[in-house]
Amino acid sequence: MIRLAIQSKGRLNEDSLRLLREIGINIDDAKRKFLGKAADFPLEVLYLRDDDIPGVVEGAASDIGIVGLNEIAETGADVEVLRKLGFGACRISLAVPKTVEYPGLEWFQGKSIATSYPAVLRRFLAENGIDAKVREIKGSVEIAPAAGIADAIFDIVSSGGTLVSNGLVEVKSVLESEAVLICRKDLPAEKKALLDTILFRIDAALESQGKKYVLMNLPTAKIDEALKLLPSMRSPTVMPLAAEGWSSVSTVVCEKTLWQTVESLKGIGAEGILVLNLDKVID
Ligand code: ATP
Ligand code: MG
Repeated sequence: MIRLAIQSKGRLNEDSLRLLREIGINIDDAKRKFLGKAADFPLEVLYLRDDDIPGVVEGAASDIGIVGLNEIAETGADVEVLRKLGFGACRISLAVPKTVEYPGLEWFQGKSIATSYPAVLRRFLAENGIDAKVREIKGSVEIAPAAGIADAIFDIVSSGGTLVSNGLVEVKSVLESEAVLICRKDLPAEKKALLDTILFRIDAALESQGKKYVLMNLPTAKIDEALKLLPSMRSPTVMPLAAEGWSSVSTVVCEKTLWQTVESLKGIGAEGILVLNLDKVID
C-alpha cells in the first residue's frame, strides 16, 4: 500500500483526482473522508489542506503527495520533487498600487509588503539586499494596500485579473509554480515498486498531453514531401489504399503546430484528414 496526499478542496483537488483517473486509479469520491482508498490500486488518499502536504510527506505520514511548488518553497520541506504535472500553473509576484511610479526593486526599500508566503519573500528580499517589512496575512492579500495594511503585496498570480480589479500592478515575478508529485526520502522497497508503476503511468499520460493523432489520405507521389512536414515519434506510418496511387499516412503531431501542419498537408493534396485525441503514449 502506498499513501498519497492531495488537496481536500480547492484548485488542485479536481485535477489531482483527474490525473489519478487518467492513470487508472479510481477513488470513490462520493463518500470522501479524511482517508480514502482506491478501488483498483493499492493506494490510499489522504485529503489535506495544501499547506500541510509538504510537511506530511516529509514526516512520512504520507509517502507521496501532489502539491504546488509554491508550497514546497514556502515550507522548505525536505522532499523529492519527482514530476511536474502540467496543471496548477501560477507564479508568486510582487505587486504595487497602480498609482505608484515604480522605478525598480529599490522602491521596496523601507516599505511594508503583505503576503501569505513570508519565507519565500524574506529569502528574495535578503538576496536582493532589500530591507522591507514583511506582514504575514493568511487570506485576501490583494486588499492589503487599499485597506492600509501594507504598501505592496507578494501573492499568487495566474491570469492577473485579481490584481487589476484591486488596482494593483505586477512588477516582479519571483517564483514560477505548478503542481508537482513529491515523494518522501527513503521510501521502503515495496512502496518504491508501487511508485515506479505510478510514475510509468503518469509519464504515459503526460507524454500524450498537447499531442494529437493525425490520419490522412495522400497521393503516393507526395509521400516524400509529406514526411518532411511531419515530425513523429519514429516515422509516420504509410499504408497503400485500395485506390491506385493513394496512400494513408498517420502520425502524432504537437497541438501547438497542428493547424500549421494540417494546412501544409492540404497544400500538397492531403484529403480526409482526421485529427484524433490521444489518451496515452507508452514508450
Ligand atoms: P487550502 O484550503 O488547501 O489551504 P488554498 O486556499 O491555500 O487551499 P487554493 O486557492 O485552492 O489554495 O490553491 C491551491 C494551489 O493552487 C496554490 O497553492 C497554487 O499552487 C495553485 N494555484 C494556481 N493558480 C492559482 C491562483 N490563481 N490562485 C491561487 N492558487 C493558485
Ligand atoms: Mg493553502
